[in-house]
Amino acid sequence: MQELIQKQRRFFDSGATLPVSFRIKQLKQLKKAIRTHEGLLYEAIAADFRKSKFETYATELGLLYHEIDVAIDKVSQWARRRRVPSNLLNFPAKSYLRPEPLGVSLVIGAWNYPYLLSLGPVIGAMAAGCTVILKPSELPSQTSAAMATMISVSFAEEYVAVVEGGVPETTQLLEQRFDKIFFTGSTKVGKIIYQAAAKNLTPVTLELGGKSPAFVTADCNLKITVKRLVWGKFLNAGQTCISPDYVLVDRKIEKQFLEQCVKEIEKEQFSLEHGNISQIINDRNLQRLRQLIDPGKVVHGGKVDAANRYIEPTLLAGIDFEDTIMQEEIFGPLLPVIAYDNLDEAIGKVKTLEKPLSCYVFTRSARIKKQVMDGISFGGGMINDAVMHITNSHLPFGGVGASGIGAYHGKTGFDTFSHQKGVIEKKNWLELPLKYFPHTPRKLWWIQRFFKF
Ligand code: NAD
Repeated sequence: MQELIQKQRRFFDSGATLPVSFRIKQLKQLKKAIRTHEGLLYEAIAADFRKSKFETYATELGLLYHEIDVAIDKVSQWARRRRVPSNLLNFPAKSYLRPEPLGVSLVIGAWNYPYLLSLGPVIGAMAAGCTVILKPSELPSQTSAAMATMISVSFAEEYVAVVEGGVPETTQLLEQRFDKIFFTGSTKVGKIIYQAAAKNLTPVTLELGGKSPAFVTADCNLKITVKRLVWGKFLNAGQTCISPDYVLVDRKIEKQFLEQCVKEIEKEQFSLEHGNISQIINDRNLQRLRQLIDPGKVVHGGKVDAANRYIEPTLLAGIDFEDTIMQEEIFGPLLPVIAYDNLDEAIGKVKTLEKPLSCYVFTRSARIKKQVMDGISFGGGMINDAVMHITNSHLPFGGVGASGIGAYHGKTGFDTFSHQKGVIEKKNWLELPLKYFPHTPRKLWWIQRFFKF
């Protein structure tokens, strides 16, 4: 590992990654590499947790292609030196922001969208002119191996390399000095990463999780609300960081809401055979989720097929914040529904919890939209839909508080792997005497005025 990092450092220090033409060429190479290996990538993810080709394209590869295209199209603009106003104290001068790549970066991926969450940050790093060591999650072992193969045949290891492994390998990697660490995963491990990075004052981006609420108010369009919520919740069997973790529904429409949910779940005919739901990633998570199903509160679903690592899309009602299912991020196909009588109180309760990665509100009321969107601190969210905000590369994607530090996607991804170097170029045709000795009251009077401009 040390040798690999040294190689990357030498390559970075050579300045090879600096020309924008190099970055564009490599981004095109990444796109080509994914295209060439699409078959392998589909096979690997199906073997790991039976994710279908449709879902893999729609939620991973399609987004990666889009992000690469945006970066290829815009990187010259992003990397350009940008003029900013100068202040009067520096007159006469020009001021610039000069983005520079941070250097040798480490990207640690999560398992639930293994391609998107591993290669997505790599796009930002490449656009910014960094070198990358990628450590995909070890849980979907086939996808990790597929990415290692794809990257090793497509890039020189001094530029982009994959290191496979679990906790021991990641711990070893974290003992090295990087110029940037980008981590996607749980809040618990995020704290370990942050501590390791602190030793070298390495800047981090932490893309973490949390319990993302969805508010459903009495005036919502119930049919569309349920359709979008059910899709967002059971996508990838609920193993989505921005999945609506739980629903807060106005008690006045709770009954209709639950009935409509059952109808929608039945209509969708979720099954591994139909390819519209994935397996639970491993037995440990299956057992963890099984424990969260309180049989007395199941409105629909609840069956667990351990042999196939499959859990039926499950709807639970009569839930309150004290229930076990409300104590941790669910990360599975279980949807607890909490009825509220007073929206202010429901919002107040959510505000006492850790800041979520996402928040959703389904309503027609402009007042309620504002109340929820302004009243709660969260990473990113939607009004009248769920999950889809991740597809807009104009929006920074990231959490706040316990759900993360920093963001990426589109230009934000470039910025995440860059340092904005601020530079002033001074002219020589004038030298004001103000800052020089003797420090007279008159000079002070002038300086006080100058600070205003
Ligand atoms: P995880 O934290 O268990 O693992 C993430 C990565 O950290 C893996 O590559 C793993 O090998 C490594 N890791 C695990 N334990 C480690 C340790 N002790 N020391 C060093 N490295 C270690 O997370 P996960 O199970 O892969 O993903 C699920 C979590 O990630 C959920 O909380 C989910 O919300 C979150 N998530 C967030 C986003 C986001 O974009 N914000 C996306 C997907 C998942």
